[in-house]
Amino acid sequence: MQTKLLINGQLVAGEGPAYDVLNPSLGATLVSINEATAAQVDAAVRAADHAFDAWSQTPPKERAGLLLKLADAIEAHGEELAKLESSNCGKPYAAALNDEIPAIADVFRFFAGASRCLNGSAAGEYLPGHTSMIRRDPVGVIASIAPWNYPLMMVAWKIAPALAAGNTVVLKPSEQTPLTALRLAQIAAGIFPAGVLNIVFGKGPSVGAPLVTHPKVRMVSLTGSIATGSNIISSTADSVKRMHMELGGKAPVIIFDDADIDAAVEGIRTFGFYNAGQDCTAACRIYAQSGIYEKFVEKLGAAVSSIKYGLQDDPETELGPLITAQHRDRVAGFVERAIAQPHIRLVTGGKAVPGDGFFFEPTVLADAQQDDEIVRREVFGPVVSVTRFDDEAQVLDWANDSDYGLASSLWTADVGRAHRVSARLQYGCTWVNTHFMLISEMPHGGQKLSGYGKDMSMYGLEDYTCIRHVMFKH
Ligand code: NAD
Repeated sequence: MQTKLLINGQLVAGEGPAYDVLNPSLGATLVSINEATAAQVDAAVRAADHAFDAWSQTPPKERAGLLLKLADAIEAHGEELAKLESSNCGKPYAAALNDEIPAIADVFRFFAGASRCLNGSAAGEYLPGHTSMIRRDPVGVIASIAPWNYPLMMVAWKIAPALAAGNTVVLKPSEQTPLTALRLAQIAAGIFPAGVLNIVFGKGPSVGAPLVTHPKVRMVSLTGSIATGSNIISSTADSVKRMHMELGGKAPVIIFDDADIDAAVEGIRTFGFYNAGQDCTAACRIYAQSGIYEKFVEKLGAAVSSIKYGLQDDPETELGPLITAQHRDRVAGFVERAIAQPHIRLVTGGKAVPGDGFFFEPTVLADAQQDDEIVRREVFGPVVSVTRFDDEAQVLDWANDSDYGLASSLWTADVGRAHRVSARLQYGCTWVNTHFMLISEMPHGGQKLSGYGKDMSMYGLEDYTCIRHVMFKH
């Protein structure tokens, strides 16, 4: 197993303390890896800084060629990467191989093409005797910090636009799920010039903190929790770095009386529980209208109770474990506190599964109210709540009454209502009669405490550039 860091084109062992990396399906150690020391983090940032000038001057066509090579290599090693990912996250192997690997390769291919298509305003004479032009130039060294829920996908979302735009990168994957990023380090070492991409392993306080606060780092891109985002923003305030923050979510899912109930149930069964609900866009905060409420809850309960959880290699497995025992206990705490409320009805699930793995039963909680903790806070597990609503104005009010602003969906047969409501939802994305669909061409990112900055799309590429004005006196 590849456990070395990538610093300045070389694979080197971490020289800090070692930490166990687990398979959460079994609760067993897969490997122990030494994290980077502060000196190794410094060496990685200096290598990226040194490589920046040449990489930023490399023509987009050549940068694109290397990103395309990486996409091809990811596909060629798809089975191996999917195996590593599924054993490190417990997620079903088939989902990692068939859903994630093609999407990851596509992200690199999209940004390879996008890097050749950056545009800006026309050059012109806005002051007599002078010509102004707009340039979009790379920012410099980017510190990219990734979470554990889709480890390699999040790496792709971060490094592809950053490298495509001509920046150099020091990436830190989650300490819980570094295996695919470290394998990618080995693959990328044979593709990119030394220092363009550096990958370090370690925990947030010991490796992430010195990385993001390093004076040579010009921008920090984080996908993670709100707490980590706000910690990074305050700890780097003095150096006024650029920030790109993809933080948590608590997606409202609005089911109107005229919706196709079976499609909505199937959508939530899939997109509320995909990746064991450890997804910032998970369809978890459901509002169902009074006319269909009881029928909907009954159908959803039946559908969710049929979700099969199990080991990642079992082809029947739909739902894997939670990432750690600690996270499983956190999810269990949310559910226990919810069920302890007399008005909340446990429709299905509700308990941790006994055994060494960190499984939690797929759970539906009905009759939740707007101010309940289960409606307001991100659980990040296989748990959805259902709240009854009466009319459009009320549900719009409740859907927007949230600290989060990442994703939302509404389900209706009325096109006018779909336009009216989606125009007023305060979320980075609204899906109509579906949920969770992400594509490389469209932006993904939040509002409010869910953060700012976009992943994917031309907007994602632009986020990794600076707009500059160059003026010529005639
Ligand atoms: P986390 O915030 O605990 O950790 C994220 C990363 O930040 C890890 O690599 C961690 O080591 C690092 N980190 C922690 N403290 C740091 C510090 N002081 N300095 C630098 N780095 C530090 O999040 P997590 O538990 O890995 O992931 C789950 C969270 O991520 C959820 O809240 C989820 O909603 C969010 N998420 C958001 C999106 C999105 O696109 N908006 C996507 C996936 C996950």
